[in-house]
Amino acid sequence: MDDDRLARLDARVSRCRRCPRLVAWREQVARERRAAFAEEEYWGRPVPGFGAADARILLVGLAPAAHGANRTGRMFTGDRSGDWLFASLHRVGLAALPTSTAADDGQHLFGVRITAPVHCAPPANQPTPEERAACAPWLDAELQILAPTLRVVVALGAIGWAEALGALGRAGWQVPRPRPRFAHAAEVLLAAPPRSRTRHGVVLLGCYHPSQHNTFTGRLTPEMTDAVLGRARAVSAAGLE
Ligand code: SF4
Repeated sequence: MDDDRLARLDARVSRCRRCPRLVAWREQVARERRAAFAEEEYWGRPVPGFGAADARILLVGLAPAAHGANRTGRMFTGDRSGDWLFASLHRVGLAALPTSTAADDGQHLFGVRITAPVHCAPPANQPTPEERAACAPWLDAELQILAPTLRVVVALGAIGWAEALGALGRAGWQVPRPRPRFAHAAEVLLAAPPRSRTRHGVVLLGCYHPSQHNTFTGRLTPEMTDAVLGRARAVSAAGLE
C-alpha cells in the first residue's frame, strides 16, 4: 500500500519541471554527456529517492550529480560519492552490494531510503535558495509516507541537515530550540508529534557529505562514515522513542 503511494510519488517527482534553471541544466548535461559516457543514454530528469516505504533510516543528501545520478537515474549511483557511501552502507550491513553502478545492478538497501532535498542536478552542485524551497514539498510528501516506520534521519552535509530539520518540523516532529547546528556525528532527538499515535521520535544524525572535496582531503574517512551509519543502524534497531 505505502509502496504504491511511494511509487506514485516517485513517478510524479521524476516528471517535475518546476525549476527552469535546473530543467535546462539537467537536460543540457544529458544531451552533451561526458566523453567517458558518450554511448550511454542519460536519465536527465529529476531523480527520485531510492529505497522502500517501510525504511527506518532516511539518508538526506544534497542533489544528484550531473554525471552520476543524473546519468543513471538512481540516487548516489554512478559516481565517486556513491562508491564511498554504498561501500560504507555495505560494511555496516545496510546495503546488499558494496558498489552502486547502475539502476539495474541488483543493489538493495536494508531498511534504508536515500533521498535529496533537491531532486535535479544543479550547476556546480549549488541549488539556489529558491530551488531548495521549490523542491521542499517533495521531501514533505516523502516524509508523510515514511513516517510510520521512520526512526533515524542521516543528513549528509549542512544543507541536508537544514532541509531535513525543516521538513521534520513541518511534519510535526519537535525541533529543539535553539535549532541544532550541523556537525559531523552530531546527534539530536526530535520527539514525536504531539498526540500522534502512529509516529515515533526520530534521531537526526549529521555526517559530512561524501563528496570528493571531503573524501580526497581526508576530512571524511571510511571509519568516520561507518561510525555514523553504524550508529544509525543501531538506533533504528533499538527503536528509541
Ligand atoms: Fe522539481 Fe525539485 Fe527538480 Fe525543481 S529541483 S524541477 S522542484 S524536482
